[in-house]
Amino acid sequence: MNIIYIFNLVLLLSTFNVKGQQQIIDTKTLNDGPYIFIEKDKLIKKEIVDGNLIIKDLRLTSYDTIFRIEKSVYKKVKNIVVLSDIHGQYDLAVELLKNNKIIDKNSNWKYNNGHLVIVGDIFDRGPKVNEMLWLVYKLEKQAKKKKGKVHFILGNHEYMILHGNLKYINDKYKKTCELLKLNYSELYGKHTILGRWLRSKPTIVKIGDNTFVHGGISKKFLSIGYDIEKTNKIMRELIDKDEVKSTDFYKTYFGENGPVWYRGYFKDNLRDNEISDILKEILSKHIVVGHCSNEKVVQLYDHKIFGVDSSIKKGEYGELLFIKHGKKYYRGTLQGKKIRFRK
Ligand code: CA
Repeated sequence: MNIIYIFNLVLLLSTFNVKGQQQIIDTKTLNDGPYIFIEKDKLIKKEIVDGNLIIKDLRLTSYDTIFRIEKSVYKKVKNIVVLSDIHGQYDLAVELLKNNKIIDKNSNWKYNNGHLVIVGDIFDRGPKVNEMLWLVYKLEKQAKKKKGKVHFILGNHEYMILHGNLKYINDKYKKTCELLKLNYSELYGKHTILGRWLRSKPTIVKIGDNTFVHGGISKKFLSIGYDIEKTNKIMRELIDKDEVKSTDFYKTYFGENGPVWYRGYFKDNLRDNEISDILKEILSKHIVVGHCSNEKVVQLYDHKIFGVDSSIKKGEYGELLFIKHGKKYYRGTLQGKKIRFRK
């Protein structure tokens, strides 16, 4: 009996497994976009509404098509809030931002002249990447009017998409691509509004004594001679250069010891003085990273390192990190409660 029984059990389990991984996307309820493409004399807006592709011509002036590259270093600000690794979980991110009074009930900027830092990985895994990007795009403009600021720092998943690695896109986007007859990377190509906007973004930002970066700054990366502006410039310039992908130069920036992939603070058991040496070299007192998932916002190495990836990707819970006056740190819970990190 047993062989047949085991065979059936294996069959049953494997079917279950396949079903567990697959997402059934009902095309009739598919809503996505807008994706806005820049042509010589007009913009073309493509949107999917209830499974139908809607294409509209827009005037070239209806959106910004050129995005200024901003500086990487800012002096101390009174209020900073940090969010990371949203991975398409737009609804949860909105709930978190609303409950912590960063945005109002209509998802408009409410954080006055504070700075919101997004430490990468809006892309991949979840189903509402485009919604999140447009929200950040809007908040950036609204914050500016209040003398606040939104910093969108690119993570490894932003770079994966921009470099054409589509391994982690949500199944929903395969349908979008079918309907638009485009490859997913082309939705964020250099002739799209969001594509150009993404290509203007930094990898590392320093505000006062805090340095923000998706993965982290490794000793190995510092050994090439660290310069924040230069790093941001090189990483930006490497986006559309596929031909350099196999070079050591590329690996320095996009390899496992580079700023968007490094996991050493969490995995390498570094000594306290090794962290202090890194901090000394980048002229910072703290480094704030995403990339390595924890259940909440965490601190390591006696508050020298803060990890902000609070597993929003699971779609259940998430937290923010608040930094007041550049030196008081708080977890902001999903319910909007602030809990101070104390030494
Ligand atoms: Ca990551």
